[in-house]
Amino acid sequence: RFISLEGGEGAGKSTQLRALAAALRARGLDVVETREPGGSEGAEAIRALLLTGGADRWSPRAEALLFAAARADHVEKTIRPALERGAWVLSDRFLDSSRAYQGMGALTDADILALHRIGSDGFLPDRTLFLTLPEEEASARARSRDGDAADRIGGRDRDFHLAVSTAFHRFAAQEPTRFLAVDASGEAGAVTARLIEAVRDLLP
Ligand code: C5P
Repeated sequence: RFISLEGGEGAGKSTQLRALAAALRARGLDVVETREPGGSEGAEAIRALLLTGGADRWSPRAEALLFAAARADHVEKTIRPALERGAWVLSDRFLDSSRAYQGMGALTDADILALHRIGSDGFLPDRTLFLTLPEEEASARARSRDGDAADRIGGRDRDFHLAVSTAFHRFAAQEPTRFLAVDASGEAGAVTARLIEAVRDLLP
């Protein structure tokens, strides 16, 4: 099974991905943890291009193409081979991040989906878990993260983050079986329990 985690900064995606992976391994599953942009040698090289050089290094279209290229390599080299051998793959971000971040400026959602069809045959997760957090709690958590430039691609403002969150909620409404919103507030263990509940029907 292929599961992606989505959410804005401070929602705890990385921590929860590790915790969900541990919980699935405890059930005897082979679990691969991966991330976007990145997750394969070539895609990690593209990640370095995307995350260095400042917000204006890439034009919005070039940025979207780089994300799509990184994803194509990630799917081909890491995700598909792992699924073929029967592993579960958990990815910190996937296509829906591009739909939310790259797909609401120079390019539309339909454009991002078209790039994904060309790059990765339109390959989709079995389930996408969208960690939701009230905006104040998210920014408080993001601020407290040591050494983390909370917004590495661009100095984006509050309106931008609200637009990202609105986009994710729209995906949840459009694809209620694949794309599930999960409450990320409260204690980490409780959030992990909610995530396990949200994939229970996929377990062997
Ligand atoms: O996953 P993480 O929160 O570390 O991502 C860091 C930042 O990368 C995000 O806040 C977002 O600004 C940016 N990003 C993006 N487009 C993507 C994925 C991530 O702009 N497709």
